[in-house]
Amino acid sequence: MKRLLTHATVVTMNSNRDVLEDGAIYLQDDRIVAVGATEAMLPHYPDAELMDCRDRVIIPGMVNTHTHLFQTLLKGLGDDRVLKDWFCGMTGPSATQLVPEDCYAAARHGCVEAIKSGTTTLVDFMYAHPRGQLTEAVIKAFRETGIRGIVARGYLTLGEEFGVPKPLIEPIDKALSDACHLIEQYNQPGARVQVGLAPCMIWSVDQDTLDKTRRLASDLKALITIHISETPFELENSMQRFGMPDLQYLQQIGFLGPDVLAVHCVYCEGQDIDILKRHQVKVSHNPCSNMYLASGFAPIPEMLSQGVTVSLACDGPASNNNSNMIHTLKFGALIHKGYHRDPTIITAEKVLEMATIDGARAVGLEHEIGSIEPGKKADLVILKLDNVFVTPVHAPVSSLVYSALGNEPETVLVDGQIVMKNRQMVTVSEEEVMRESQKAADDLAKRAGTDRFKRRPWRSYVP
Ligand SMILES: [Zn+2]
Repeated sequence: MKRLLTHATVVTMNSNRDVLEDGAIYLQDDRIVAVGATEAMLPHYPDAELMDCRDRVIIPGMVNTHTHLFQTLLKGLGDDRVLKDWFCGMTGPSATQLVPEDCYAAARHGCVEAIKSGTTTLVDFMYAHPRGQLTEAVIKAFRETGIRGIVARGYLTLGEEFGVPKPLIEPIDKALSDACHLIEQYNQPGARVQVGLAPCMIWSVDQDTLDKTRRLASDLKALITIHISETPFELENSMQRFGMPDLQYLQQIGFLGPDVLAVHCVYCEGQDIDILKRHQVKVSHNPCSNMYLASGFAPIPEMLSQGVTVSLACDGPASNNNSNMIHTLKFGALIHKGYHRDPTIITAEKVLEMATIDGARAVGLEHEIGSIEPGKKADLVILKLDNVFVTPVHAPVSSLVYSALGNEPETVLVDGQIVMKNRQMVTVSEEEVMRESQKAADDLAKRAGTDRFKRRPWRSYVP
């Protein structure tokens, strides 16, 4: 398939950060072959199918580096609670009831949300395994919707005393043998959907789990992702057990490396930021979730100034409550401006870098995705900034970060395939996906006993 996208404003995210006015992109099958001025490119590709992108902006597909898609079924059930109550009273009991059909319905819905709001690569941190075949159900949804991604097979191997429901605790050898089987099955060179490893967080695993994870990831060249320093509890637990913060402990046991995607890092400071830099650990920043659960303010500007790769993510839809990366762009900028009382501390352009090229780096795919350059995969988002909330437009990147609401993507390509066209999903029926996820969400809430939160009292108190 040969396509020529013409007359667009192309935000390339190449190393010069070129933005082309009246730009064109020539695609052949799954790859970008050439990028340049429309006038200069048109005569060279007479046999290409033309897509006129006049009045459109094209960006590289965004990379959402952290979510738990099963939580799509839990939207709105955990609002306005402290984390322990959120987990022990709602997310945990729901997770223990999951069956493959729930995970499939939830992940299909989450992938559609992602595509519709301009994400072409997702990292799903799938830690809940009360029974088998749940990761497979998420992978099936990724494959059907056409999104790119890494489904990280997660595990908790201890933590009952801290409120982890018993059915979620797995013996490490069982979890890793399952993960190993999935990696061997799916991680073929160039595969659009791959499998990674996800030890949940420091207080829910032991050193044996971490050592075995490190060895398996190195042997099979799989991505590792782990929650780091999300809350003061995590830090205290690590101090009690190991006499040092979680990141320092992970350095000491030889766990860290460029293939580690550390999620949150809210309480990383000073020496921790040096450790991230030294071991080329990548960071996934989740501003909406950190505010929703009141986890705190990650020192992202400090990490950026030290040269740490920081990507952007929505986190699970039980703490967000959606998978809209365009919303996250704005939160990702505003959280640091407000916290530092300094509007210059982070820019719209940097936030978009975090969501594209830096996201690609965070998952080890910077040679394949994250920018619009010859040789890269054709993962593209064509935006029409034509709604009342974003117009008038002066600077497209500013409009996208600060004014857009999420339905600006008009057409989305992954691997050169059109997965959404004229705001309609091509790969799956959006109506059917929503119907199925609502049904699965209602059933799951009944089984988990969380349907009582639907009938919660009106709470307008001021403490
Ligand atoms: Zn998470």
